[in-house]
Amino acid sequence: MAPKVKDICNNCNKDVVSNDRALSCSICDKWFHIKCERVPVADYDFLQKSDDSIQWVCKGCKGASQKICKMLTLMHTRQDKIETEVVGLANSLKHCNEKINSVDKNLSQLNENLPKMVSQQISQIIDDKSEEEKREANIIIFGIPETEEGDSKMKDTEFIQGLCSDSLGIDNIAIDEITRLGAKPKKGSGKFRLTRLVVKDNTSRNNLFRNAYKLKDTKIGAHKKIGIGRDLTKKQREINNALRIELGQMKKDFPHRNWAIRREKIVELPKSGIPPWAPDT
Ligand SMILES: [Zn+2]
Ligand SMILES: [Zn+2]
Repeated sequence: MAPKVKDICNNCNKDVVSNDRALSCSICDKWFHIKCERVPVADYDFLQKSDDSIQWVCKGCKGASQKICKMLTLMHTRQDKIETEVVGLANSLKHCNEKINSVDKNLSQLNENLPKMVSQQISQIIDDKSEEEKREANIIIFGIPETEEGDSKMKDTEFIQGLCSDSLGIDNIAIDEITRLGAKPKKGSGKFRLTRLVVKDNTSRNNLFRNAYKLKDTKIGAHKKIGIGRDLTKKQREINNALRIELGQMKKDFPHRNWAIRREKIVELPKSGIPPWAPDT
């Protein structure tokens, strides 16, 4: 009886008959003569004796499966990397969300407080302005000698009138009010309180300021220790002090230029013209 044809060898395309030494691939299920696939006879014998736990794979499938294995390994590596990246992203997203929440909270707090803050600032500005305006008409004179007894208001009036006519060249100053500021100094202290002067009109006031520099220039010497200034608010005094420090620095840094304070700013004056000791009006 002729041997039974099992299949066709996938390598030589010839019949695989029952007494041929041939193997079927456990992946593609195709038959191969062991000669065609170069399987040693010893291996073939071993496989024949073994159970199904040992599988044979043709060369074609072996190559493909190795490629697949490599690809799978590569995919695993990539997947691991992607998973790590996803964890990182999730963490930064969480961090972002926390930040957004805190910014949100700050914003809503600001929104809540802003109208109050703005109105407080505005009323502060209005208060400052009205305080400045209230003092606008005042003139502060320092260094007027003070008597320890008697009618000082009368003496102060006479002194200021004398000061105006003798040292400033202003006759008929129209005085409205004279007030000594603060507590009376102790007897024998030699200190004099500031005098607040209110004049009847702006012209008299401007005249006083315009001529105040003459006090330092007077040849008479009687009024050299007298100074005239504006009645500044606490805030203006602070600004003024800061400006004086800045002015000192400018004079030190640029000694050959002519610096002065004008309208709450440091300005450079021309070399000639207004004397540098002329007060800020
Ligand atoms: Zn063959
Ligand atoms: Zn195969």
